[in-house]
Amino acid sequence: MVTTEFEADSHAGTRVARAGQIVEAVRQLFEAGVMAHSGHANLSARLDEDRFLLTPGFVRGLRPEQVAVVDREGQVLEGKLQTSAAEIVAMHGIVYRERPPVGAVIHTHSPAATAFAAAHRPLPCRTEPMLRFGQAEPVPVVPWAPRGSDAAISGITEALHSHPTTSAVLLANHGLLVFGPDPAAAALLVMAIEESAEAEIAAAALGGAVDFPDGALDAVRASIVRAAR
Ligand SMILES: [Zn+2]
Repeated sequence: MVTTEFEADSHAGTRVARAGQIVEAVRQLFEAGVMAHSGHANLSARLDEDRFLLTPGFVRGLRPEQVAVVDREGQVLEGKLQTSAAEIVAMHGIVYRERPPVGAVIHTHSPAATAFAAAHRPLPCRTEPMLRFGQAEPVPVVPWAPRGSDAAISGITEALHSHPTTSAVLLANHGLLVFGPDPAAAALLVMAIEESAEAEIAAAALGGAVDFPDGALDAVRASIVRAAR
């Protein structure tokens, strides 16, 4: 019995700590200016193999106790989700299923990244922060499908299979989906991707951004694969 109580306490402790990390990541994303005007985003953090924490359908003014606990089938186990948030459970859940090392997933409509998503253009890796925060390859585009539909989920699954070392995908005509070991790392990658998308668009007026030298991305990707083992 003592063990059970201890486990319950430790679950509650993990939940509170992860919810705090999500709220802090939200604060950093707003402070960095990478949110869309609407402030739309959803963030999640893995609790264990089957369950994760998910923001309830809004993030502006979010408090840790408003973060819900859901399972990968979309059942809400603790807290409440707005109807719109219920549609995105599968979008987060599929990343946790396909990528065991992932501890956090962030979806935003960051404006410059969303411009690439709207143009169906993969975002090249041509800036140092993208490399540093773990995206040493272009961010692929997942074809559009209705939000939360089976087609949308299988599109993300296919992209994760065909790009086994990508830490982000662009959702065509929609926005950005980024994943990392924890909410802080995923938030840093959202910022790096948004900066990179802005740099690509600005550099287009100067004749276009230029690739890293041959081999530069391969070296970083090899170290990412080593770190994941
Ligand atoms: Zn969205």
